[in-house]
Amino acid sequence: MVLAEPPRSRFDVEFKVGSIPVRIHPFFWLAALFLGFALRGGAMNVVLWTAAMLVSILVHEFGHALVAKAYGWPPHVVLHGMGGLAIYTPTHRKKMPRALIAFSGPGAGFILGSLILGAVLLSGHSVTIPGFGWTLGEGPPISQGRAGAFIYYLLFMNILWGIINLAPIQPLDGGAIAQTILEKFRPRDALGLSLKISLGAAVALAAFGMIVWKSTFMAIMFGILAFESWQLLQQAKQHGWA
Ligand SMILES: [Zn+2]
Repeated sequence: MVLAEPPRSRFDVEFKVGSIPVRIHPFFWLAALFLGFALRGGAMNVVLWTAAMLVSILVHEFGHALVAKAYGWPPHVVLHGMGGLAIYTPTHRKKMPRALIAFSGPGAGFILGSLILGAVLLSGHSVTIPGFGWTLGEGPPISQGRAGAFIYYLLFMNILWGIINLAPIQPLDGGAIAQTILEKFRPRDALGLSLKISLGAAVALAAFGMIVWKSTFMAIMFGILAFESWQLLQQAKQHGWA
């Protein structure tokens, strides 16, 4: 997600992974607990959900951060109430590196998700991919007990959230990729066009979430993103940028 970095607070947790600084804002824990409680599965499920969110969002942001670092742009990672950020300062305006950095967040999650799927299948279990309902493998299903719940949450976040994150919607990673590609091929109207695509995709996903997944949460989230895209489009028009 491309959002502003939240201000420092005295409840921040700070550490480094290799040379990359990480800061966890207290709202990250609040958001994770809120979503965990919404599952209504008991205290242990809330703990497992929060742990899965910590792992998944760190892996996602380190996907962005490591590729930014490979381009020579020192990154830092912040986890906050809306997810996470990998912040870096590009030193030139080339498009490909920015598109690749945007993709490498979901990409890192897909790698982790594939490793987990592989491990589950090797253990002789079958597994259902969250959100899709496809079952892979033979044998007894993995989604039983604590380990099964933790694996289910990790797959949910690394595969399902990863795919949704690639939708061409601002401020998701897919929105950043779409805008970067448009800036390369349609430099004159890239901003307006990317916001129109973002608006259309957000409306489509809100409807899809409501009708197919019967998820009020998804409908509200993409409804808000659609409204924000519409607002940004109006502002861009007023300034003559679209
Ligand atoms: Zn991302």
